[in-house]
Amino acid sequence: MMKPVAKTTAAKTNYDCFDCPGYCCSYPVIVLTKRDVTRLAKHLELDFDTTEKRYTRKDHGYKRIMRRKPDAHFARICHFFDLEERRCTIYKGRPAICREFPGTKACGYYDFLKFERVGQEDEEYISTTWHDED
Ligand code: SF4
Repeated sequence: MMKPVAKTTAAKTNYDCFDCPGYCCSYPVIVLTKRDVTRLAKHLELDFDTTEKRYTRKDHGYKRIMRRKPDAHFARICHFFDLEERRCTIYKGRPAICREFPGTKACGYYDFLKFERVGQEDEEYISTTWHDED
């Protein structure tokens, strides 16, 4: 198994990826471009076709979205998410959409998490009702 690599948080943001269980990685539609598959294939030391077939599928009107797997918190999550460490295992080979997210100083998922933790009076609280289908 690949060694998990920590997600990072860009400077001067209002969120902390290390304090999040991976909401963004549970999003059902992680779109991959041809360039993303090429990068991922190189990272995994596989050929393009094998990578595309093994780790992506056609759905939601897109040619390629990331395959997912079962997760105790969100029902389903990205195939490359480490379920114990709650981190991306292909950080250097991740798709552009993951590199760009959230694209602003704030993260809606993180705001939701903080809101829920205050409301539940539980700093460890994780909502399990985010996405539940593929
Ligand atoms: S590739 Fe990495 S950052 Fe992107 S959704 Fe999957 S686990 Fe998360």
